Amino acid sequence: MRVGHGYDLHRLEPIAPAGAGRPLILGGVKIPHDRGPVAHSDGDVVLHAVVDALLGSLGEPDIGELFSNDDPRHDGADSSLFVSEAMRRVRARGYAVGNIDITVICERPRLSDHKAAMRTIIARLLGCEESRVNIKGKTHEGVDAIGEGRAVEAHVVVFLISAP
Ligand code: MG
Repeated sequence: MRVGHGYDLHRLEPIAPAGAGRPLILGGVKIPHDRGPVAHSDGDVVLHAVVDALLGSLGEPDIGELFSNDDPRHDGADSSLFVSEAMRRVRARGYAVGNIDITVICERPRLSDHKAAMRTIIARLLGCEESRVNIKGKTHEGVDAIGEGRAVEAHVVVFLISAP
């Protein structure tokens, strides 16, 4: 058994051309909003934290080392590709996802309408039942950058078990 922790934050700006923000995607779900992440890839803060939790559980290099921000191949990249590579490594080491617990912190928009879709996508990417995936949405009570709607953050803990 192994445990991994992942964390990520992205700055939110008005969506281009008004600002430098990309369309908001969280946990693989496109979410209508007037602000989005400033990022080299698609800026999916949830999947980035998932990837770092998976890689961390294996003791392997982190997302920034594997998928460099300087690599033009990752410009606007679909972050599900990063999850797929992390899961390839998980399987290669003989593990499967026991369960994963995800906390997403953002002031707006409300995540409650999107959590079910995120859960379905993440379970599919991880090759596990949806019952093994939990997603919690929180606000930042109006304080600091996240509370002011200028950033979005995700924390993830993943538990790996020997592949059945
Ligand atoms: Mg990131």
